[in-house]
Amino acid sequence: MTDTNTIPAIRSEIDKLDNELISLLAKRKSLTRQVVEVKDAAHSSVRDISREEQLLRERISEGRSHGLDPQFVTSIFHEVIAEGVRTQQDYLQEKLNGAPLLGSATSVAFQGIEGSFCHLAGRSFLSSKSSPNTKGGEPSFVGYPTHLEAVRAVESGACDYAVLPIENTTSGGINEVYDLLLNSRVSIVGEEKVSTKPCLLGSAGAALSHLERVYATPLSVSECGAFLASLPECRIEFVADSAIGAKRARQSGSKTEAAIASVESAEMFGLAVLKRDIASHDESFTRFIVIAKQPRKVDQRIPSKTAIVMHTLNKPGALVEALSVFRDHGINLTKLESRPVPGNSWEEMFYVDFVGNLESERAKAAIAELTKLVRFIKVLGCFPACDVEPTLVDTTEAEAASSQADSPSCSVEVREPAAPKAAPGKDKGYKLVTREYKESNTVIDVGGVKIGDGNFLVIAGPCSVESRDQIMSCAREARNHGAKILRGGVFKPRTSPYSFQGMGYEGLDLLVEAGRSVGMPVITEVMTTEDVERVAEKADIIQIGARNMQNFSLLKAVGQIRRPVMLKRGMSSSIEEVLQATEYILAGGNQQVFLCERGIRTFETATRGTLDISAVPVLKKRTHLPVFIDPSHAAGVRDLVAPLALAAKAVGADGIIVEFHPEPEKALSDGPQALRFPQFEKLMEDLRKIQVS
Ligand code: PEP
Ligand code: MN
Repeated sequence: MTDTNTIPAIRSEIDKLDNELISLLAKRKSLTRQVVEVKDAAHSSVRDISREEQLLRERISEGRSHGLDPQFVTSIFHEVIAEGVRTQQDYLQEKLNGAPLLGSATSVAFQGIEGSFCHLAGRSFLSSKSSPNTKGGEPSFVGYPTHLEAVRAVESGACDYAVLPIENTTSGGINEVYDLLLNSRVSIVGEEKVSTKPCLLGSAGAALSHLERVYATPLSVSECGAFLASLPECRIEFVADSAIGAKRARQSGSKTEAAIASVESAEMFGLAVLKRDIASHDESFTRFIVIAKQPRKVDQRIPSKTAIVMHTLNKPGALVEALSVFRDHGINLTKLESRPVPGNSWEEMFYVDFVGNLESERAKAAIAELTKLVRFIKVLGCFPACDVEPTLVDTTEAEAASSQADSPSCSVEVREPAAPKAAPGKDKGYKLVTREYKESNTVIDVGGVKIGDGNFLVIAGPCSVESRDQIMSCAREARNHGAKILRGGVFKPRTSPYSFQGMGYEGLDLLVEAGRSVGMPVITEVMTTEDVERVAEKADIIQIGARNMQNFSLLKAVGQIRRPVMLKRGMSSSIEEVLQATEYILAGGNQQVFLCERGIRTFETATRGTLDISAVPVLKKRTHLPVFIDPSHAAGVRDLVAPLALAAKAVGADGIIVEFHPEPEKALSDGPQALRFPQFEKLMEDLRKIQVS
């Protein structure tokens, strides 16, 4: 009872009770921690649904005896239980990964300035993640002008995490972020769903009817379209994030300017809330993802999701076929989003989120099967699902003592996973490349040009791109005489550092321009991991040269891109080593690889290399990937190129890559082996005469 009936006295009593509630909740949390340690030692599951139901029924009944509404008690205890579940999950995660998600000096990148929705989502995600073992675990937040810069900060190690919005209930998937995930080397480690509840903020006392300008993000404009339509006199000024809008409205100091932002930014920027909850739909949520440089494992007892991106084959029914893999393994999809593939008109990349742990047999089997059906697949991450399924009890019957232990409310009915197949060849260091793993031939489609479809395909061009005129004349020559892909080196692996090293990115632009002008895809070599992404943005196929066949970081890097890769055999490499090197690329996710025999080093000196012609039938037998021959680098002299090229077709290769030059005497690299144009034309005619069954 209060001493007096004054409001301050009553309030002080309320404050005391609230503080007691807080300290009780903290005590409860530490008991939850104790219980998870015992559960973990006993290998039991995190959630015990029958215990949760029992607990909820008892609290409802206790609440009733104090005159508290069952709905009220239910909603409070849903939160309390959810918090307990999250605490236990965080403990298991910390144990499994050997480190808490939130360390002592964690830094988090986000787009915008403090107070933006990304910033708030990051704070909310990390607030529950502090561990009692982590002292001083307040994360620092670093704002960047763009999502791209936030991602780069994680890649470079400048920040531990970045928070990115991925989808919104009104506007759907956020394309920019999907594209960033495809092109970066980061992993999703968490997700957070935030009720965005946009508000209109402005100077205290400002009247809606007098507003002339509203600062808003494109997302807020689409969320609050109906409300904005009620302010016809008002101009919308787009801003990169809501907090920047709030800051501008504040700086203007004018009663005619306002911003759409979170209620939290009102306080941060000293603005008044002119109108609350102005979204067109009551339920306005944005889902954010948290990314890190390295993936984090997820304990199998925690409900988790896995996110992947895949590029399906360009044939009718390819997507249905891929999606049926999930159905066949009893895997539930929570998200399917498509994005166009830049440069390949009407082709789509599919982003899929599914319920399940990447390490589960079910998910492993599904991904292995998908790998055979798609051109490219990349796992974006496996992370604990942010929604904690609420415990369901019928509040009207809460006092009924019956326990429903047999009906866990969060279980999903699933079929048994297919028995995992034996991994062929894994003991040899490769499996994905083998015929046992995938029987059918891999056919690579490069903007309509098919590699490995049974037709003999010629890739032709100069050793190096040397000038616009040179590459343009080579492109015309290639196209006019039936080659399908244009080659041209711009980064040259030269034995001597004094030799011409290639024109670099300037040469790449010329090569792409020449290819486009004659409607041919282009292939060029990449020598360093740093160049992979930038070259892959423009070149249609990436070549890994003989000298780099065992450059494993380079192989891993091209395993992560969506462009096909031609891997050349190292000059001193065995076929076993070729297969293991190829496995690196496939294991990275990129299934579009073809191989190229280009002559190996033997005691023979009459030719530059010894063309191992038998590598073709051997490789064709052992792998499902297309096999090419490079007669130019094997021969080293132009007069020997044609016979070797003809032999390539006769022995069953899927194609050749051959060098020519308008003026071989002036070539900056490999002049002696460059065919003259008339020689190339004759070769193309002779090749047509060879029929292979
Ligand atoms: C090339 O094709 O330009 C090249 C350098 O070949 P290789 O890697 O086979 O020597
Ligand atoms: Mn060359």
